[in-house]
Order: sequence, then structure tokens, then C-alpha cells
Amino acid sequence: MAEPLQLNNVSVRYGDFTAVIEVSLRLEAGHIGCLLGPSGCGKTTLLRAIAGFEPLAAGSISLGERQISDPGQLVPTEQRNVGMVFQDFALFPHLSIAGNVGFGLSGMDRAEREQRISAMLELVSLEGTQSAYPHELSGGQQQRVALARALAPGPELLLMDEPFSSLDRDLREQLAVEVREVLKRAGVTAILVSHDQQEAFTLSDQVTVINAGRVAQTDTPYALYHNPADRFVAEFIGQGSIISVNADTQGKLSHGLGTLTPEQLSNYGQSNLGLLVRPDDIKYSARSEVQLKVLSRAFRGANFMYELALPNGQAVSCLTPSHVNVAAGELLPVQFDLQHLVLFEAEG
Ligand code: ATP
Repeated sequence: MAEPLQLNNVSVRYGDFTAVIEVSLRLEAGHIGCLLGPSGCGKTTLLRAIAGFEPLAAGSISLGERQISDPGQLVPTEQRNVGMVFQDFALFPHLSIAGNVGFGLSGMDRAEREQRISAMLELVSLEGTQSAYPHELSGGQQQRVALARALAPGPELLLMDEPFSSLDRDLREQLAVEVREVLKRAGVTAILVSHDQQEAFTLSDQVTVINAGRVAQTDTPYALYHNPADRFVAEFIGQGSIISVNADTQGKLSHGLGTLTPEQLSNYGQSNLGLLVRPDDIKYSARSEVQLKVLSRAFRGANFMYELALPNGQAVSCLTPSHVNVAAGELLPVQFDLQHLVLFEAEG
């Protein structure tokens, strides 16, 4: 049965270096969470601490009612009832698919084991592959076998470490959707480590962004994108940039960007504000008086991603349909759509 996962002020040290610092988070039973952040921020260390591979220097971890880690105790991994899926699938090449999926199913009689294996293969849409060998399946199929193997013993918690990173981008996206469906059908609580936000957003109910060992924000993907807690999250999530702007006494922002509400004006002041501008906040508008110089552009088939210069030289990105075809050095007429302004106080 799925259980909620709770981390209270968890710290993990390697010698004098603290890789995970006072991390608290809660993941409800049956929910999918993601640890997301740049390389070296501590994601894998945290996942390893949840799995029972790393002792805690401080804090505690519980699964349902059971406390599984604190500085004085480390319930061994095999007694935690956690399933694991690794980056490289880690299937046994000499075992058939049935042998792989049934690997952790000790204590079941033969008929029960076979039934469980078929149910798991059905869950991951690989019915009838029992007698095949891993090398006969595609990368995506192998990863689904790894998922079936991890889910077969009915873990309370499933841990996934960069589960799709060895697959190509298109396959990753498709697999992330499929894996989400499988996990939801299995009703398992799951936590994955990723540095790919697209994958994190597709798969997860909640995402924890980690910055240098600390939680920067835990939220739904939608809230992270639209209401980032700080500059780090704002710049890490999505392709926005934070530009420095000033407002006049009425709240009107420089560069024709929009107008602050009286409340925003009193909260943030007028000068040197950080304004988050996402590529989809700037729209091509043929008759607009605001015309920005094109610094560069990248053709992406269905659209162009433009890099534009504001009058004071700050760069912003702008996504347009691909028929809006303006060369570098020319002017692009645009309109800012900052209905949901995200502002930060002056830096420093
Ligand atoms: P990546 O995305 O690159 O895998 P990560 O966010 O998973 O990175 P961790 O692997 O958890 O980061 O590492 C966090 C920090 O702890 C890094 O500075 C790393 O160098 C350090 N670290 C990791 N493992 C050890 C170890 N066994 N001994 C000492 N330092 C370690």
C-alpha cells in the first residue's frame, strides 16, 4: 500500500561537506514527487538517503507511521519496502523478461509468481514478452520492464534516479506520460530525481527545486512556473530572464512593459525591480509601437525563439509562430503581456 513520505530537516554530510541541508518535504500517498535542480545540488544524495544508502547527520525521514532514518538509526534498504529504478535500467541481461520482473518475488508459489509477472507486464503494456531477453527490446521497453520489476513486490515507495536520461528526447517525453499513467494505476507513492524540467513537469504532482543542498521551493509544476519563490527558481524553471526595471510614481514600468498595481508599487517600490519575463509573455504584434532589435533567433519548426534587446541593452526571449521571419539586426514589433507579473525586490 502507498504511504506518505515525510522528511523533517534532513541534513546529509560527506566528511566536512554538507551536501543536503535541512530539507523538509511531504509527499502524499500515491503522489509523484520530483527532486529537480542543477548538477551537484544534492538530488541524488537526498534520494540515496531516502533509500537508506546514506545516514542522516540531522533530521528524520518517515514512511507512513514508520520512522526509517534519523541520526541514530538507519533501517536497512531491504527493510524499507522501497522499489528502485535506475538510469541505466540495470536489467539482468542473462534473465528473460519474466525472470527480471519476477526477480524480487520470493515467497510466492510458481502460479502466483507467474500471475504477478503477467499483471505487471500488462500494467506497463508489454504483455506476452515473458520469454524475450532484454537485448531484444527497445530502450523504452527495457525501462518499462525495469519499472515492472520495481513495482512487482508492491513497494510502499518507488524511487527513480534520472530514469529516462539514457533515452532520446522524443522517447523520454512519451515515456514520461506512460510512466505517470502506470504509477497512477499502481497507486504507488513515487519520487524521482531529474535535471530535466520538462520530464519533471510531465511526470510529477509536485516538484522540489533544490539549490545548493537546500529546498528552494516545493510546489505543483504550474505554481513553480507562475509563482516562483525566488530568483533562483524563476531563472531555473522555464526560459525566462529577470530584467531590471523602474516604475514611475503611478506604477508605470519602463520600456512600455506594463503598469504595477498600487499594492505591488507599495510592496516593491519603484526602482531597480527584478521583473520575470518569459518568452510567452512577449507577443509579436505587427502594429505595435514597441519595436525591439533582434539579437539572434533559433528556428524550431513550429516557432521561432527570438533573443531581443530592450532599449537599455537587456536581453529578453520571445516565442513567435514560425511565419514571423525577421533577421538578426532588424526590428521586431512586440507587445508585452504581463498579466501575471512576477516581481522581485532589488538585488543586494
Ligand atoms: P547530478 O545531477 O550531477 O547527479 P546531484 O544534484 O545529484 O548532481 P549529488 O550527487 O547529490 O548531486 O552531489 C551533491 C554534492 O555532494 C556534490 O557537490 C558532490 O560532489 C558531493 N558528493 C556526492 N557524493 C559524494 C561522496 N560520496 N563523497 C563526497 N562528496 C560527495
